[in-house]
Amino acid sequence: MPKKPQKSKQIQLKGIPAAPGIAIGRAYVYGTEDIIPVERTIDREEIPDEVQRFKDSLKKTKKEILAIEKKISSEMGVEHGRIFSAHLLVLEDSVLVHEVVARLKKKRKNVEIVFTEVLNKYINVLSEARDEYLRDRISDITDVGKRILKNLSGIEQRGLADIDDKSIVIAYDLSPSDTAMMHKGRVLGFVTDIGGRTSHTAIMAKSLEIPAVVGLESVTDVVKSGDQIILDGLHGVVIVNPTKRFLEKYRREKKKYEHLEHELNELRSLPSETPDGKKIVVAGNIELPEDVASVISHGAEGIGLYRTEYFYMNRQDVPSEEEQFNAYKSVAQRIKPNSVIVRSLDLGGDKFLSALDVPKEMNPFLGWRAIRFCLARTDIFKAQLRAILRASAFGNLKLMYPMISGIAELRQANEILEEVKRDLRKEGIPFNDQIPVGAMIEVPSAAITSHILAKEADFFSIGTNDLIQYSLAVDRVNEKIAYLYEPAHPAVLSLVKMVIDSAHRENIPVGLCGEMAGDVALTMILMGLGLDEFSTSPIAVPEIKKIIRSVRFTEARNIAEKAMSFTTGKEVMRYAKSRLRELVPDIAAELAS
Ligand code: PEP
Ligand code: MG
Repeated sequence: MPKKPQKSKQIQLKGIPAAPGIAIGRAYVYGTEDIIPVERTIDREEIPDEVQRFKDSLKKTKKEILAIEKKISSEMGVEHGRIFSAHLLVLEDSVLVHEVVARLKKKRKNVEIVFTEVLNKYINVLSEARDEYLRDRISDITDVGKRILKNLSGIEQRGLADIDDKSIVIAYDLSPSDTAMMHKGRVLGFVTDIGGRTSHTAIMAKSLEIPAVVGLESVTDVVKSGDQIILDGLHGVVIVNPTKRFLEKYRREKKKYEHLEHELNELRSLPSETPDGKKIVVAGNIELPEDVASVISHGAEGIGLYRTEYFYMNRQDVPSEEEQFNAYKSVAQRIKPNSVIVRSLDLGGDKFLSALDVPKEMNPFLGWRAIRFCLARTDIFKAQLRAILRASAFGNLKLMYPMISGIAELRQANEILEEVKRDLRKEGIPFNDQIPVGAMIEVPSAAITSHILAKEADFFSIGTNDLIQYSLAVDRVNEKIAYLYEPAHPAVLSLVKMVIDSAHRENIPVGLCGEMAGDVALTMILMGLGLDEFSTSPIAVPEIKKIIRSVRFTEARNIAEKAMSFTTGKEVMRYAKSRLRELVPDIAAELAS
C-alpha cells in the first residue's frame, strides 16, 4: 500500500531580531545550491561544439548581468547597480576564456569540468594573494562562475537581485553588499545563520525596511527552498512549516503590527517634544542618498548619521571628489532646513572596500579603521573633506569623525580640515566656514576623556554599536557571544551618562546614533540622562517620537536615576520594560518579554 505523504513538522528557532516586521512566505535558500557538473570525455569532433557552448553561456551570462545591473540601478540607484560591473569584468577576462578553450582541447573533457578546474585554480591563486583587492575578487569570480555553470547546465537558478516572486531569503551569511541588492517587495524578509544585531548587514536590512532575524546558527540545515516560513523580526523568531494555529496567530500579529505602524505614521508631522515641553530631536540614519526618502516619510528631523563609506563599496575605484560633492549636496538640499551629519569615511571592521589596498588584519575592529585610516591616507580623506565642505554651501551640513580615541586625533583631523579650507578659499570655492565639526564617541577612551574632547568639538554623537563592543569586549558581529552584548549594562549606561554630562558642561549638544537609539525599551532612560538627539534607522523614528511625546521629562529623569542604581543589565531591562508597559502600552506590546 502506498505510504501517505508525511506532513512536515513545525520547527521553531530563536535568533537575534535584526529588523522589525512580520513576514509569512516561502523560503528561498540562497548560496547553497552549487551545481556539481558530471564529467564526460569528448571526441575531437565535439570540441568546436563545446567551445561554442561555452561562448554561448558567456554571452547569456553577460546579458543576464547587464539586465540585472540595469534593473537594480533604476530601482535602487547606481550605487547598488555597480556591484555587477565587477562581475562583468570577470566575464571579459580573456586569459580565463583562453585557458578554458586551451584546456578543453588538451584534456578532452566536457566544458563544465574544464571550466570548474580553471575557476578553482583562479580561486586558489587569489586566496593566497596578499592584496585585499585581489582576495575580494574571489566572491565576484565565484558568483559569476556559478552563473556560467547554471547557463551551461540549463538549470534555472536565481540570484538575490533577480528573485522575482515574494520569498524569505535563508542564507548562512549575507554581506552588507548582498543585502544592498535585496528589494523590498520582492524579498519579504531574510534569515541568516550568523551575525549580530548591530552588524552592518542588520543595519542595512532596517534601511531597506526588510524584516530580518540573524544569528540562528543552523537555519540553513533545517530549511529547504519552498518551505513555509514565519519570520518575526520583532522577537527574533523563525517558524518553519508552521501549523495552522501558528499561521493564524501570526497573521493576526502581522495585522496588529501593521495597524500600529499606520497609527505611528500619523505622528509624522507632529513635533518631537515631551508633554512638559522638552524638545528632543529624532533624526534618521542613512547609508545611501536614496535613503533620504525614508527619513522624510518617517518624519525624522534631519539626518544624524550619514554612513558615507557605502559610497566606496561595491565598486572598483574610489569615488571622485566631484561624485561625492554631488551626493552630499543632493542630500543636504533635500533635508534642508534640517541638518545632515556627514560622517567621514569609516572603513574597516565589517565594512571592506573593494578598491583600496588594505591588508587583512587579525582584529579588524581594533585595527586600521575609520579615522586612523583617513589620517594615514590623507589623499582620500582630503578629497572627501573637500566634497563635504563644498556641499556645505548648499544646506545645513555638519561633519563628524568616526572612532576618535582622544584629543590628539581630533586635533590632527581638524588640522587637515583647516588645510582643505585654506585651499578652497584660495580657489575661491564657497563653503560654510562655520561648519560644525563633531566627534563620534565610540571608543571607551574617548568617553572617559569626553570632558577634554568637549572643549574642542562642536557636538558629540555616541556610537553605541562600537562603544558597547569595545567597553564590554564583545564582537558586535559574533552571534555566539551576542548574549553578552548588552546596551543596558551598567558600564555602558555610565559611559553614556559621562559623555552627556561632559557635553552639557561645555554647552555642546550630544546625540546617539547607534542601534541603541532605536531600542524602545531604553528610550526613557536616554531621555532622562539628557540626550539631545536620537538618530536611528528611519523605521524606528515614529516609535521613539511616540515615547517622547508620551513621557514627561521629569518622569524620564526619575526613570534614568533609578536605572542607574541597578547592578546588572538584565535588571535595568526588566525595570525599563515594566515602566514602558505602564506609560506607553502600545509600544511596549511589541517588546519581547
Ligand atoms: C556606532 O558604532 O554606533 C555607529 C553608529 O557606527 P557604525 O555602526 O557605522 O560603526
Ligand atoms: Mg561605529
